[in-house]
Amino acid sequence: MQRRAISRLPIGAWATLSLPTVSPEPALSGVRAVCFDLDDTLCAYWEAARAGLRRALEGHSATRGRVEEMEEHWAAAFRDFYPRLRPEGWYEEYLASGEPTRTELMRRALLRAEIEDPEVVTEIADAYARERLSALRLFPDALPVLKSLKKRYGLGLITNGPADVQSQEIEALGVGSFFDCVLIEGEIGIGKPEPEVFRRAEQELGWTSGEMLFVGNSYSSDILPAIEAGWRAVWVRRPEDVAPSQGKGGKPEAPPQDSPPPHAITADLRSLLPLLGMEDLS
Ligand SMILES: [Mg+2]
Repeated sequence: MQRRAISRLPIGAWATLSLPTVSPEPALSGVRAVCFDLDDTLCAYWEAARAGLRRALEGHSATRGRVEEMEEHWAAAFRDFYPRLRPEGWYEEYLASGEPTRTELMRRALLRAEIEDPEVVTEIADAYARERLSALRLFPDALPVLKSLKKRYGLGLITNGPADVQSQEIEALGVGSFFDCVLIEGEIGIGKPEPEVFRRAEQELGWTSGEMLFVGNSYSSDILPAIEAGWRAVWVRRPEDVAPSQGKGGKPEAPPQDSPPPHAITADLRSLLPLLGMEDLS
């Protein structure tokens, strides 16, 4: 049947037939632009936060000697405070600057240890921000992968957080020039998982949803909204990806039970390249 059908093709139509190739299609074929999350996808933010907090607490006479206790207070205060940013009216300030909520969080953490001096609160909160930024590092797989992808794809960065904090991170890490589009929650006034963020990236990069790939470490903030926006999504699950706010015994985000699966899961960004049909760097 197939041969008969082909024999009826008009002369010249052969040129339009695609012959089967030896190598299979790459899993992420048709992708034209790749957008990354920043914290804990490209850089080790949790690790920097943990190190920054410890250095700030060790560096102040009010908390030195009781650092582990204070870390648990900070983690408990974080879990209590961050879900209340919007209901308690902190969100607008938070978008512009990390300072007000960072200081308020430290105030609530120190209050749990009956430390109430506002000067001490400010000194430790400021030291935490400083030390966290100076401890921030790219994961070793980030730079080689960005360099490779830059040759063939439009690249975007979509990061949640205050305008000043996220800009400082991008500058400190030296990755800004890789991206054709940078969307910071604090700058545009909306963040993931809002669908508008993904639409905006499509517009800025000039591709349709089916041509977009998102790479991120959070299923709920990165992967699910990307899939719902019609993008492909690769979930980066590094074994050390545990927020310090979880306190002792925290675990990485679990795979969802009844939600759509990502197109791939990896602990190493280098595996993006063969998925996209590019040469493997590993
Ligand atoms: Mg992240």
